Amino acid sequence: MDHEARLQRLRDSLSSHKLDRLLVTHLPNIKYLCGFTGSAAALLVTERICLLFTDGRYRTQARDEVKGAKVVIAQKSPLVAAAEWVAAHSSRTSKSGSSQSRPVGIEAESLTAAMRDRLASLLKGKSRLRSAPPLIERARMVKDATEILRIREAVTLGASLFNVLLEKIRPGVTEVEVAAALEYKARCAGAEGMAFPTILASGARSAIVHGRASSARVPDRGFVVCDFGVILAGYCSDRTRTVHVSKPSEKARFLYDSVLEAQQAAINAVRPGATAADVDNEARRVLRKRKLAQYFTHSTGHGLGLEIHEAPRLALGQTQELEAGMVITIEPGAYLPGKWGVRIEDVVVVTSSGCEVLTPTDKELVIV
Ligand code: ZN
Ligand code: ZN
Repeated sequence: MDHEARLQRLRDSLSSHKLDRLLVTHLPNIKYLCGFTGSAAALLVTERICLLFTDGRYRTQARDEVKGAKVVIAQKSPLVAAAEWVAAHSSRTSKSGSSQSRPVGIEAESLTAAMRDRLASLLKGKSRLRSAPPLIERARMVKDATEILRIREAVTLGASLFNVLLEKIRPGVTEVEVAAALEYKARCAGAEGMAFPTILASGARSAIVHGRASSARVPDRGFVVCDFGVILAGYCSDRTRTVHVSKPSEKARFLYDSVLEAQQAAINAVRPGATAADVDNEARRVLRKRKLAQYFTHSTGHGLGLEIHEAPRLALGQTQELEAGMVITIEPGAYLPGKWGVRIEDVVVVTSSGCEVLTPTDKELVIV
């Protein structure tokens, strides 16, 4: 990971936004910029300096992990220590000498109102705070070759666990038992953890979009939506397959085939220059044709990487253009409340001419 290059790109974008200091508090952004994976940190990036504030628990870990930043072990909260440093160095951080009036950029989305108040009082008379645009999130949208390799490995591991589901899903077994077997295998295979609570929704529960594995038992007949991801070497995978217990009815098959057709249409629309909304619209167009559009109640996909949900969002009205190197999910679904639901999800990377589907294994309806 080229942390120096990432920092340089951030510095360039800071100056174009008339900011010369940014206090980074969103932990995945800190990890992206300097490699630190601890749970307490604040990273201060100025034109010349990059300081990682953390606490004594992370002394050894920070020394091992951090690249491109100087580590400061704080005796207090890292955020307070960072603010005090800014207050003490305010007159020395600006090129123009007018630092007192130059605001400090903050990541408002990751600060609570109380933290923001605390920061403002610590900087009173020295500097003001300004919510910075999501500069690091924007940079993170386009992955470098190492990141794509890591995501590919995470996705491959995730897909290899599908067999566990096929072995375990049987009428009468509880959803949590199936999820437990899956998660155990994931950890044995080297996953740091699951990317999000495993979704395993069987029978009528398959109509619940985010139906976490519950104590419900898999029925004798019906769909089971299985949506799970692993974290491997810091990067997430995300994949949904919907299987059917015993022979599906014609209507069930129609629902499945419609969602599959919508998913393929959306994948076919992924290319540089297409907007996130264009891809979303393709999935909706197919489901509209099949009179199922009203049952597709979420967005078509999302970016993924260090976090399970990142920019861009593939949804109605999203004007973000896709670029080569973006890694996104394509996951349309249709859910008929109280009856059943289907979702199919793959991870794709945008290439110079279209996209490559990273998720292996085919998508024909599997009957267990
Ligand atoms: Zn997803
Ligand atoms: Zn998913």
